[in-house]
Amino acid sequence: MTQKTLVINAGWHLDNSYAQLPEKFFTLQNPTPVHSPKLAVFNDSLAASLGFNAKTLKTDEGTMIFAGNKVPEGAVPLAQAYAGHQFGYFTMLGDGRAVLLGEQITPRGERFDIQLKGSGITPYSRRGDGRAALGPMLREYIISEAMHALGIETTRSLAVVTTGEAVYREKEEPGAVMTRVASSHLRVGTFEYAAKWGELKELEELADYTLQRHFGESDVDENPYLFLLKEIVSRQASLIAKWQLVGFIHGVMNTDNMALSGETIDYGPCAFMDTYDPKTVFSSIDTQGRYVYENQPKIAVWNLARFAETLLPLLHDDEDRAVKLAQDAISRFTDLYRSHYAAGMRSKLGLFNNEKEDEALIERLLSLMHKYQADYTNTFRALTFDKIEGTPLFDASEFKEWYKLWQERLGRQQEDEDTSHQLMRSSNPAVIPRNHRVEEALNAAVKGEDYSVMERLLKALSDPYAHSFEQDEYAQPPAPSNCRYQTFCGT
Ligand code: AMP
Ligand code: MG
Repeated sequence: MTQKTLVINAGWHLDNSYAQLPEKFFTLQNPTPVHSPKLAVFNDSLAASLGFNAKTLKTDEGTMIFAGNKVPEGAVPLAQAYAGHQFGYFTMLGDGRAVLLGEQITPRGERFDIQLKGSGITPYSRRGDGRAALGPMLREYIISEAMHALGIETTRSLAVVTTGEAVYREKEEPGAVMTRVASSHLRVGTFEYAAKWGELKELEELADYTLQRHFGESDVDENPYLFLLKEIVSRQASLIAKWQLVGFIHGVMNTDNMALSGETIDYGPCAFMDTYDPKTVFSSIDTQGRYVYENQPKIAVWNLARFAETLLPLLHDDEDRAVKLAQDAISRFTDLYRSHYAAGMRSKLGLFNNEKEDEALIERLLSLMHKYQADYTNTFRALTFDKIEGTPLFDASEFKEWYKLWQERLGRQQEDEDTSHQLMRSSNPAVIPRNHRVEEALNAAVKGEDYSVMERLLKALSDPYAHSFEQDEYAQPPAPSNCRYQTFCGT
């Protein structure tokens, strides 16, 4: 068989709409081949939904593509240009270790970026090596797939290959390339780049492209760029509420890591919270706690304000009017976020209708969880199954008072106990990717080349609302430790 036939059989159906944007937005860039690629993990179900033939992709041919040693039919590999505010400071960035192969058109006509991460140096690499270590790529694979299963919009992971080359971080590590799938890689930072270094026409083209790619037709009566801003505000409000509801801490909410599609992107230093503490942050470099759990909604507003600033010249010819339109659009975030969050919390407590005192009821529970150092996920799980015993929180008389109020509140709604219970089951995950289980899986894979631990973890995470017997062990919080769990960027 010729190479071409093999590639076509794998189901590649690439288009390259991003490459039609003005040249300023990217640099054509092939991935740099690696020494000896080997497939480490492959996502069969994602491959199928993208229209790939998993069996063909899992052959050497596919591995060569995921490693960047071969370019698939129809690809126009490129590195995207973008800027961003990192920890509050503006800087030029761009894909320093990634290339976009193109956009896979699925059998249902959807469009997904196929990006290789860790694929070698690009013009945007600055002092970086363009590469990625295996551990962090597997970590992104696990957590992004867990987020997807939790029902949270996210980029996904199609495959990880090892390169047979070492990368040097704090020590020598095995290198890897991850294939990331995203609705797009358009970021707040892409607009910051355009506003800073592009012509107005280029900014407008980027905005039109973003509208067309993610938001369909805007209302003909409305300013399309105001529509774009409002839609992005609304998607972020919904996304961040979902993060808060499961205790996800992104860790590096720089504007280059905020995707305009409304997907969670960039799984560097993220982690899930075990013990409830609003000040939780895991990232080793976030010494000021800028990105702690409770700050995430505020940071989203800050990032959206940076986005809105880039749109000002498109919003109105009169600058004051433009600023006013932008401010009004951004200020909608808080109400939208609050209503998503409150609705999600009500579901977690089995509540269907809306009462004025609900917010206080939720707040009270959270403050007791904080005071008694309760596990966030497991507290809701225990409430779901009415197994409220054996923890300092559940033994506290303050909790018993809260519980009584909650029961009375449940009694005031029409839905019966069973219906409430069902709602709680489907709103409170049995498992989240707990740090100690993720570390255990990564250790086995990276140090022992044993992927079975990771496969079992992925299985447990694949249906977080199943509440199955097999998931029980993955629901256990870590043993008490004096060591604070830490995550790292730029890995
Ligand atoms: P991140 O912290 O992953 O959002 O990355 C911030 C910026 O650093 C982006 O422009 C990345 O492309 C770039 N970057 C991260 N790691 C590397 C690396 N090993 N080599 C080159 N660029 C990198
Ligand atoms: Mg990034």
